[in-house]
Amino acid sequence: MTQQHCAFCDGPIGSESRKTVEHFRPKSQFPELAFAWDNLFPCCDVCQSIKREQYDEALLKPDALDYIFHHYFTVNYHTGEIEPSPHADATAQHRAKITLGLYGLNAPERKTMRLREWQFYSYDPNQHIDDFNYRYFLE
Ligand SMILES: [Zn+2]
Repeated sequence: MTQQHCAFCDGPIGSESRKTVEHFRPKSQFPELAFAWDNLFPCCDVCQSIKREQYDEALLKPDALDYIFHHYFTVNYHTGEIEPSPHADATAQHRAKITLGLYGLNAPERKTMRLREWQFYSYDPNQHIDDFNYRYFLE
């Protein structure tokens, strides 16, 4: 479903990061969900090691039907930081902030990697770039 990408940071898993299964609601707090399919997500070991057993009801669930990236977040292409969208309401901004924090999505090395990818794509002036994530529609 995520095509070998982490469900939380969207980074490739398996090549640079150990593949893990993340319990969105941690087993320690929700043992009844330890084997519930909709609680399990492919995850990189970086996200999993940062989040550990933390959970907050405001956390955005990657497969939620109303989870559309740009409704909650914006990317600062000068710093590589993902930020809560200034166009989102206060609840959505809070949820974005919680999600960024619990998965460490703005850790310094992650911002650097985003900037590197952005520079790679923006280097070619003939390359068409938009912000739609086509990966989920590829087979
Ligand atoms: Zn990750």
